[in-house]
Amino acid sequence: MFVDIAKIHLKAGDGGNGAVSFHREKYVAAGGPDGGDGGRGGNIVFRADSNLSTLADFRYKRKYCAESGQNGKASRCSGKSAPDLTVCVPVGTLVKDTESGRIIADISDDTPVIIAKGGNGGWGNCHFATSTRQVPRFAKNGNPGEELDVTLELKLLADVGLIGFPNVGKSTLISVVSEAKPKIANYHFTTLTPVLGVVRIAEGASFVMADIPGLIEGAGEGVGLGHEFLRHVDRCRLLLHVLDISGSEGRDPIEDFNKINHELAVFSDELANRPQIVVANKCDLIDEAELESKRRYFEEKGYSFFPVTAAIAEGTDELINYVASYLTKLPPIKRYEAEPKPMEDLTVQKKRDFSVRVCDGVFFVENAEWLLDVMNTVDPDDYESLQYFERVLRSSGIIDALVRLGVREGDTVSVYDVEFNYVP
Ligand code: GDP
Ligand code: MG
Repeated sequence: MFVDIAKIHLKAGDGGNGAVSFHREKYVAAGGPDGGDGGRGGNIVFRADSNLSTLADFRYKRKYCAESGQNGKASRCSGKSAPDLTVCVPVGTLVKDTESGRIIADISDDTPVIIAKGGNGGWGNCHFATSTRQVPRFAKNGNPGEELDVTLELKLLADVGLIGFPNVGKSTLISVVSEAKPKIANYHFTTLTPVLGVVRIAEGASFVMADIPGLIEGAGEGVGLGHEFLRHVDRCRLLLHVLDISGSEGRDPIEDFNKINHELAVFSDELANRPQIVVANKCDLIDEAELESKRRYFEEKGYSFFPVTAAIAEGTDELINYVASYLTKLPPIKRYEAEPKPMEDLTVQKKRDFSVRVCDGVFFVENAEWLLDVMNTVDPDDYESLQYFERVLRSSGIIDALVRLGVREGDTVSVYDVEFNYVP
């Protein structure tokens, strides 16, 4: 069975905890804090693998977890960071956030993409010695790794897509113009999985053609095969609409043509407006006059019309050369842009209770559980991240409250496990 959509769960590694430890040495009375930082949790990284053509692997394994970073140790020893976990997917896989539908990445080239970020390790107590607190007994816990459900959707990367009713000769065509060897048979739905073939033209140039399983009436409304498969032509730059011009199965090729285009339009306007070339197949079964009247019909509608007999590769060279030159005028294969993460605005959170008190010159912010969530996302090594933290402190009124309590430049402010010097 062909699997082109899969839902999986990702859990990146948690950051290791920072250590609480004190330097011990003979004759050194009170050693300073020397607890090391926790290691980084492993990221979950997605990478395209051109050997894969379906998402079938993801039907059996649905949960992917990266390892956590190690905890920090004494003597300023940082915990070991965990290795990234690499998930291989077929080229052209879209990764979407299942909950929101947001596109996280389009895995269409060799660039690996981090989909779930491992948590930063927590700081050991060696960082927390301040002028007012020489013996810090706390360290910061590691941040949790990102955890999310993602939906994988395979959208083939092909320049040209073959569309048309079953049995019109699509598989035969791709087999004579490329190295692809799809099943060819005289019954409907022989093509159940898309087949990609590289069409080589003179001078080393080539393009990729996709044989898409037959579309059926009602496909655009999701009836039977179709809707799912229309997804595969979504990225194609050009569509070859293959017709059994002889009507050898008792259907009228013009009616077939209109029905398929109706399905495309129901699926998406964009797809319906994709450039299309009419490939009139099975010309061995039609007389000249009949063929010319069909040609006139399509050419009057503005379509390029190529009569072929795919079975014996007649007319296919002309078609392929035309397609190759047409492609040079078309935009490249569509890549999907990652959609930005809706920045959850923690600065306008409803529940923003807190209390402040001062003790031995240290200003404590307490009873602000909500602030822990914010702090978990703050990377103390990152300037922007720290600025964000400061904005939260300001907009929630914490800074004002500290000022009312008499905080002055350079005073130590303690927010849960984290201490910093107040800067107005
Ligand atoms: P698909 O379902 O569109 O992929 O069609 P296939 O390529 O599997 O072909 C369906 C049937 O049409 C097969 O029996 C082919 O041998 C036959 N066929 C393909 N091309 C031609 C052609 O040019 N002339 C004739 N007479 N039959 C053809
Ligand atoms: Mg076929």
